[in-house]
Amino acid sequence: MSYTANYQNKPVPALTYHKIAKKYELGLNVVSPGRFRSHLQYLKKNRYLGVTTNCQTVQNPLYLTFDDAYECIFTEAFPICLEADFKGIVFVITDFIGKLNNWDINFGINRSRHLTKEQLSELSKAGWEIASHGRKHRAHTGMNVSEILRDMQESRKILEDLFGVSVLSYTPPFNVFLPNLRKMAERAGYHNVFLQKPVTPLHGEEDSLNVIERRMVYSFDTSANIMKKVENCSYYELYKENIIHFCSNATIGVRSLFLKG
Ligand SMILES: [Zn+2]
Repeated sequence: MSYTANYQNKPVPALTYHKIAKKYELGLNVVSPGRFRSHLQYLKKNRYLGVTTNCQTVQNPLYLTFDDAYECIFTEAFPICLEADFKGIVFVITDFIGKLNNWDINFGINRSRHLTKEQLSELSKAGWEIASHGRKHRAHTGMNVSEILRDMQESRKILEDLFGVSVLSYTPPFNVFLPNLRKMAERAGYHNVFLQKPVTPLHGEEDSLNVIERRMVYSFDTSANIMKKVENCSYYELYKENIIHFCSNATIGVRSLFLKG
């Protein structure tokens, strides 16, 4: 396992956003456009720049990642990123391109549209990285190894065929995964796997993947919180993120029981 590093040999910080939207939603994954703009302005003032995984030749690179590829990333986040000259990395669920989500938490209250092929194509042409979040947003823990591998391979191929780019990066749905994730990701042709911090190194496993540790951004996060995440200087922030993440995955578990029942 290796870590993507900047020229000072430090890991490149990575932030995870989900939705950038004005509309109020249940849950903590929606950041308002005004707040998102202030995050980028603050990062820029501190000399960070949003880049993609194949372009880190700036002094303080940062990965600005957007999970699930909602339409609001094109309508709200993209113009703000352009103002700040930041590039983003968008993790696409390939079976939901241009469709409404039917897998999100909150029992279908927050139904949102995913980015269309045309919108993703615009992002790609603007230098954004198109990355894979699997085909259906199914948690790996409910799939066997061959299903996971097929999902990883097929989603990469779908994106490469649609957009004519190399798809280098993958992140597992809900950040839940089996211990051999890295071996499978490498077999499926990825170079980078993004995982929520902290990532436990696996001893005795050798692979050439870059593992990039990300920090979640929630609706209440101020610019000062964002800087703490980027500079990795607050254990309290990390603890808080992991508690919230655990609770949101528990909600998903409840929902799946509810739907099965
Ligand atoms: Zn997701």
